[in-house]
Amino acid sequence: MPLLEVNNLEVCFGLRQGSVTALRDISFQLERGERLGIVGESGAGKSVLGFSIINLISRPGFINKGEVLFEGKNLAALKNKEMRTIRGNRIAMIFQDPMMTLNPVLTIGDQMVECLRAHRKISKQDARVISLQKLKQVYIPSPDTRLDQYPHELSGGMRQRIVIAIGLLLDPDLIIADEPTTALDVTIQAEIMELMVELCERNNVALILITHDLGVVSEVTQRTIVMYAGRVIEEGPTKEIINDAQHPYTQGLINALPQMALPGQRLNQIRGTMPGLNDLPSGCAFSPRCDYVLPACHEAIPALTKSGGCNVACHLVTEQNNLSEVNE
Ligand code: SF4
Ligand code: MG
Repeated sequence: MPLLEVNNLEVCFGLRQGSVTALRDISFQLERGERLGIVGESGAGKSVLGFSIINLISRPGFINKGEVLFEGKNLAALKNKEMRTIRGNRIAMIFQDPMMTLNPVLTIGDQMVECLRAHRKISKQDARVISLQKLKQVYIPSPDTRLDQYPHELSGGMRQRIVIAIGLLLDPDLIIADEPTTALDVTIQAEIMELMVELCERNNVALILITHDLGVVSEVTQRTIVMYAGRVIEEGPTKEIINDAQHPYTQGLINALPQMALPGQRLNQIRGTMPGLNDLPSGCAFSPRCDYVLPACHEAIPALTKSGGCNVACHLVTEQNNLSEVNE
């Protein structure tokens, strides 16, 4: 059984003007210890997906269809109390801003001890010992001193390390990290991502990394899902997606990576912007920005279809595959 299985998930937001569908027909699986990247521009639905997995979509958002099976148990149907236990113990969430996790008026040690004792029957002393171990795991310099410091006394990079240590406190099976390094400078970003990979590998923790940065995904994950306007448009092994992207949107994201530009050359940004979810064009949502539009693209939403080692939702790709089949 996979660790996580998302089936036909649909999330809507009930607004005064009517209901808007933020996620449509999302399905994927995640094995134990596997690292999955979810990429796309802002507004693609990545964070909504992260929050839906842990059943933290707040009103007016709601899960309209589908299921989120964690070890076979449907999280989308759990009561709040059961869900809180799973969120604390089995699934940890790491956000872009460490201050969303850290309490500014408690010392690092007190927060860690409190978090442990909320989920386990252990003494304060034992909780402090575990907290110290976890701080050592994330390579915080002088960890004993840090236990008695407040979040504001630490640098941004150090705070994010502490958030990771807190995430690991209860030995979760899955970490969902939403743009965990976006607020940090580039060298620290790389260090933190390296640390996350090391910790996930060592503890056999699965990771869902949500980011707009395909470069980070290529270094960290084994599998990638590319999202556009609330749908999965390409999905497959990260190596294949980076080296041989098939969907024109994914190709656009790759061409826009700074490392793809020659020195002095301007970055190749994809023209236009993602349409609003209540204002999607008919057919393929990417069609207004796509250089390869076919008549079919305006008529029908392309279905996610197997192509090579990936799944791709694009009429052009489907047509090319059909042609090559005929020629074989
Ligand atoms: Fe472009 Fe058509 Fe493919 Fe959409 S379905 S990405 S418009 S070729
Ligand atoms: Mg986001």
